[in-house]
Amino acid sequence: MVKKRKVTIKRQVIDSIISYCKMRHPNEAILLLCGKSSRDAITVERLMIPPFSYFGPYYSGFPTLLLPFDRSILGVMHSHPNGSSEPSLTDLNADPIGYISMIVSYPYEDDDIHLYDSRGERLEFSISE
Ligand SMILES: [Zn+2]
Repeated sequence: MVKKRKVTIKRQVIDSIISYCKMRHPNEAILLLCGKSSRDAITVERLMIPPFSYFGPYYSGFPTLLLPFDRSILGVMHSHPNGSSEPSLTDLNADPIGYISMIVSYPYEDDDIHLYDSRGERLEFSISE
C-alpha cells in the first residue's frame, strides 16, 4: 500500500480560497495551490491565479501549456457552484497537475473543502496557522 502524504493547508490560504469562490459565484473559480512538498508531507502555503484562466457556471480551466515551470505548484483548486463535492467526469479525465486537486462546493464554508489525489481518491488534510 502506498503511504499517503500528510497534507497541511495554511489557514490564510483557506480563507483566501473561500472568499475567492464567493466572489466568483455563480461562476466557477480556479486557482493553483502552491507550497512545499517532500516525500511524506505537502504544505499549501499560497495561491496563484493561473495565466489566462477562463471560467463560467459549469466549467473553468486554463491553458496548461502556458503554465510556468514551477516546482512549487502542488495542484489545482476549483469550485463547484452546483454544490457537488465529487469530481465530475471532466475533472477526472483532465490531465492532473501536481499531486492534489481541491474542490470547494457551494456555499463555500470550511466544511465544503474537499481534497483528492491525482487518481480522484479523497485525501484528509489539516489546517495550520
Ligand atoms: Zn469540477
